[in-house]
Amino acid sequence: MNQPVFRAPKGTFDFVPPRGEAILAVRDAMTEPLRHAGYGYIETPSFEETALFARGVGESTDIVTKEMYTFTTRGGDDVTLRPEGTAPVLRAALENGLHRGALPVKLWYSGSYYRYERPQKGRYRHFSQVGAEVLGAEDPAIDAELIVLAMDAYRALGLTGVRVVVNSLGSDESRPAYRAALQEYLRRLDLDEDTAKRVEINPLRVLDDKRPEVQAALAEAPLMSEFLSDSDRAHHDTVRALLSDAGVPFDDDPRLVRGLDYYTRTLFEFVHSGIGAAQSAVGGGGRYDGLSELIGGPRLPGVGWALGADRTLLAMEAEGLTLPGRTGVDVFAVPLGDDAAQRLFGVVTALRREGVRADIAVGGRGLKGAMKAADRSGARIAIVLGERDLAENVAQMKDLESGEQLAIPLGDVISQARDRLASLE
Ligand code: ATP
Ligand code: MG
Repeated sequence: MNQPVFRAPKGTFDFVPPRGEAILAVRDAMTEPLRHAGYGYIETPSFEETALFARGVGESTDIVTKEMYTFTTRGGDDVTLRPEGTAPVLRAALENGLHRGALPVKLWYSGSYYRYERPQKGRYRHFSQVGAEVLGAEDPAIDAELIVLAMDAYRALGLTGVRVVVNSLGSDESRPAYRAALQEYLRRLDLDEDTAKRVEINPLRVLDDKRPEVQAALAEAPLMSEFLSDSDRAHHDTVRALLSDAGVPFDDDPRLVRGLDYYTRTLFEFVHSGIGAAQSAVGGGGRYDGLSELIGGPRLPGVGWALGADRTLLAMEAEGLTLPGRTGVDVFAVPLGDDAAQRLFGVVTALRREGVRADIAVGGRGLKGAMKAADRSGARIAIVLGERDLAENVAQMKDLESGEQLAIPLGDVISQARDRLASLE
């Protein structure tokens, strides 16, 4: 019996052309505004010591309690496939001493992340993010800059349905009082055992509970905005004013909290309605002034975001946007016979080296099959070389749109193809 054909693991999928080109274009559009703004590229391993996430993301978060791919290596190390990018990037910045150089340090990255989630549209076990982190600056201008750069990326992709929602979670000086007030309120509610436990460990996370009955019970809960210190409020007001100045409309959501423990002050989420209510976030981020100390570093304020590339592509498809990305070639070579194939192989190689997008029919399929391949390739020009052409030292250059055909000297194919393409642009 034949072995069954392998399938991608549950919760994962492949990008094949032309969607493969589209996801690359999404990532490019997300990174372009960052590179333009002086951010440097950073790359870290796709797995880390498990304790980095346990401490850096938070012991009580869904990510750490339910979603991590954790294993012990053959050598006995406890490692985890990265579920998010901020803790690893901060670890790398500290390890490489970036915080001892000129501040702020502005970084961007792009890669795969892994979470053991219940798979559904827009929620996968392997997904990709583009991220940005700025370390060593408390200035609210940085928070605003990051939000503007993300919105510029979405706009460059043609998306019109992305909204940004903002909130402030306060800082060390204001959060403890709020936490206590919220806890007092939550303890009076009739909550299930897990949620009651969460009230004691991390009451803010209860605000993020998506169940309608819990949301209803939270209607009268105290809000962080009532507890912000003067400096927290000034910080938040500056962020909001800078966004307005930049022409970025935003919504205030005093109940916005996010799934990671480390946020302080500015918190934001980019949402889109086209993917499904539970997967509406196409990106999110916030300030994390205490994270460095949590993972054993010095005090080092930071702020950053991660944008979900997969969900952003789904949002584009929901808006009916033509997917960006260049596939195909401009010139397609059609050899008829072995000698012609050998000669055109050299011509196509030279064209490619000159920067012309070119491909060639292989397998000796004859004129009809090869011309079909030429049409599929998206090429504007076909170069057809038959036995008789070869004997006369010419090739046929055919315009695949108009059908017009012209015999040209074989030695001139490269220059003539280039001229022809230039004239068509
Ligand atoms: P959600 O509330 O939807 O679970 P999150 O708060 O866990 O999102 P973050 O950790 O902030 O998400 O990650 C940033 C972005 O990465 C999200 O806004 C989303 O676009 C994307 N993302 C997160 N988890 C997944 C996933 N399992 N599959 C696909 N994209 C994801
Ligand atoms: Mg999540």
